[in-house]
Amino acid sequence: MAVKEDAAVMSFGIKGFVPLSMLDWEGRLVTTIFLGNCNFRCPFCHNASLVLDHKNLPDIPQDMLKDALTSKGGWVDGVCISGGEPTISSKLPELARFIKGLGLQIKLDTNGTQPRMLKSLIDDKLIDAVALDIKTSFSKYPLATQQPDMSEKVKQSIDLLIEAESKSNLEVEFRTTAVPTFVEREDVLQIAEYLAKAGAKRYHLQQYNPKVTLEPSAGEIKPYNKDFLADLAQEASKSLPVYLRG
Ligand code: SF4
Repeated sequence: MAVKEDAAVMSFGIKGFVPLSMLDWEGRLVTTIFLGNCNFRCPFCHNASLVLDHKNLPDIPQDMLKDALTSKGGWVDGVCISGGEPTISSKLPELARFIKGLGLQIKLDTNGTQPRMLKSLIDDKLIDAVALDIKTSFSKYPLATQQPDMSEKVKQSIDLLIEAESKSNLEVEFRTTAVPTFVEREDVLQIAEYLAKAGAKRYHLQQYNPKVTLEPSAGEIKPYNKDFLADLAQEASKSLPVYLRG
């Protein structure tokens, strides 16, 4: 006999959340929630426990999430769903429907490896904004992600996001964290050129912060200096508008 899950303890695989954040969706006050698990193993990842140890982290029950989101009613503009990699969770559409049911907008952070999931979320109008991390130039994906090459999937996601942005109000951000060794000058220029040819409107380059990393060796990497990044952003701007963060 099938056992029905108690609504009070039902969960979406959420492993943590930040009740109020002004950093995760530009210009908006949001609650950010984190799903466990990821299909990449980026050495410079800041969320190692969510990636490597998610099975041992307790799930936040649905009713606790609802309390957190509704008690901020009127304050927050929406929810940022981050990870880990949210799109590898089969519960993501259900979670998005739950949040939409509370009248909140949704921004999704993704590595872009699941274009089918992304398309179904867009088609069902379950997301309002997407930030896609382009880890490095496509030929270096196995190095940056420490996994078999999934860059073709990422390219598919880029194409479908550009198309969706042109046909709807979906907000789209393509971004790269400039981690020395994994992301060099040529990588940034190649990504900018690729995005421009694909029809992207803009590109964000982010400073690397080696504070917490999945691989200890990545914590030893010294970030690029500000002038180098500013010059690089300017050079890449020959392809499309490039914005610098951090
Ligand atoms: S940086 Fe993102 S894509 Fe890479 S391992 Fe961490 S959560 Fe996964």
